[in-house]
Amino acid sequence: MPELVASITNLAEGLGNKTISIVDLTAPLSHETPVLPLPEGMEPIPHFSLEELARYDERGETSYQNGIHTGEHVGTHFDAPCHWITGRDLADVARVPVSDLVSPFVVIDKSKRVADDPDFLLDVSDVQEWQQRHGPLPAGGWLLYRTGWDRRSTDTQRFINADDDGPHTPGISVECARWLAENSPIRGVGVETVGIDAGQAFAFDPPFPCHHYLLGAGKYGVTQLRNLASLPLTGGVLVVAPLKIVGGSGSPARVMAIVTTSTEPEKKD
Ligand code: MN
Repeated sequence: MPELVASITNLAEGLGNKTISIVDLTAPLSHETPVLPLPEGMEPIPHFSLEELARYDERGETSYQNGIHTGEHVGTHFDAPCHWITGRDLADVARVPVSDLVSPFVVIDKSKRVADDPDFLLDVSDVQEWQQRHGPLPAGGWLLYRTGWDRRSTDTQRFINADDDGPHTPGISVECARWLAENSPIRGVGVETVGIDAGQAFAFDPPFPCHHYLLGAGKYGVTQLRNLASLPLTGGVLVVAPLKIVGGSGSPARVMAIVTTSTEPEKKD
């Protein structure tokens, strides 16, 4: 397979001569990282925190190290299928094959619509229109949903955007979540918001339809992505690197995109 060897060589050369770039889509993970507020009666998700164990001192004169405490679903993170009851018999995060964690992506950009309507929901027709312009969704790849919400991600209040009716953040309609799960070839959905579902999705039927349908179909989610604005709409590869937590329902993850450096991001409604 010499042409495949050439592809790897080209990738390595491109990284060396900077014609290929790696874009970090990950939010910094700290005690300030916003966490999804859960409805009353549910155990709150623990924020990320460090517990200092040694800092070149009597606890370890030559070393600095911390314990870490965190919920699995904190910051830029990966949702495994078993996170939702519809996927309870499916993969936990340690059982997700690495071949599923490196795959093509496309970007659908609804940031202008979301600027006028924080409760905007992506619909099947939006995805079909996108496909007419840019081609089919990638088989075994990711649909990254750009909403511009990452601009709010350093301010918990604006990021969660809650009032008396609960959070108001963009998401995906019930019908579109089902269509992506059952009728599209994608492997997962990536979003800029605190979770893969809309802020108001607790009141949908079924509640949290992205979790319900996508995880139930053995697909994945990644959340709290940044820098989607700098990506091409097609033609890149996503690398998602959650911790291999045995039995875990998800994990904070480093998420990065491999793109050609010369590509200018296309603008779309
Ligand atoms: Mn999650």
